[in-house]
Amino acid sequence: MRRGQLTGQMQSWYQDLLEGRLTHCDHSLDAVFHLTADRSNPLVALKLSTQNREPIGDRAIMKTLLLVLSMVAAAREATAQEDAQCVRERAAMVETIRAYGRSDASVLGQQGLSERVLEAMGQTKRHLFIPEPERSCSIAYADRPIPIGLGQTISQPFIVALMTQLAEVAPDHVVLEVGTGSGYQAAILAHLARKVCTIEIIPQLAEAAAKTLRDLAYDNVSVRLGDGYGGWPECGPFDAIVVTAALGQPPPPLIEQLKVGGRLVMPVGPGYTTQQLTVVEKIAPDKTTTRAVALVRFVPFTRSQN
Ligand code: SAH
Repeated sequence: MRRGQLTGQMQSWYQDLLEGRLTHCDHSLDAVFHLTADRSNPLVALKLSTQNREPIGDRAIMKTLLLVLSMVAAAREATAQEDAQCVRERAAMVETIRAYGRSDASVLGQQGLSERVLEAMGQTKRHLFIPEPERSCSIAYADRPIPIGLGQTISQPFIVALMTQLAEVAPDHVVLEVGTGSGYQAAILAHLARKVCTIEIIPQLAEAAAKTLRDLAYDNVSVRLGDGYGGWPECGPFDAIVVTAALGQPPPPLIEQLKVGGRLVMPVGPGYTTQQLTVVEKIAPDKTTTRAVALVRFVPFTRSQN
């Protein structure tokens, strides 16, 4: 679930529910219906329709409902303000990566990035995944990596989009990400898949990402703290796996947890220098194909001491 949608949905579900109760349920809520229908004189409307009720009880109901209505209105206002942030910069970023995707047909073919992936990039608020000091719209939506602390970075938007596209994520897919970092790539995947499981080895980053994703109501993402080398068998098997840290070889447990027909996308090579962005496809239980797609530069995949 995506935040904008979800927040909107929660509000409208809430209102649907409220109205459903008002219009379809028993007479005890008729007063509320009149209250909302006749805002010019709610007390009169309330009294007219509830003559055989205790006045104190009516007032309490009315107060509660007014409170609920004002809370809904305030939440709507806050969401609208937040939704309006960085809209222009985000749209410009999508156009930049769209053009970039088409500029080299050897990477993505003539079509470049798919509309589905571009849509997810356009819906995900990257500025909310980066640390406060960098949170300006122009920095957040430039097509560049950004430091997120503890020596790690949030990847360049084009690379996030490219890896997502190479993973070929469909709406019913279960996806594993190794290297949660800020949670941004996980959020993009969450727009496209049914379930996303993501593992981060640095506790502070795992905690911060889990909080960001929770605050933004990404309720189809689970974050786990640990070394992602061994994957997350209880969460799989996976239709796609995206690894966002560089390692000399794809970890065998990840290939093991990939479904037949699934893809693992990761930078293969030593950390900090250039690596080959590689797609491993599992074509049979014991058979894979591997292709190198582009040169990239990722932080190293680290191993836990245990
Ligand atoms: N995908 C992230 C960026 C990842 S940076 C985002 O969208 O923000 C790479 C991340 O991989 C870092 O946070 C690093 O701590 C993490 N990492 C490195 N080795 C790991 C391992 N063995 N298991 C899990 N995470 C790892």
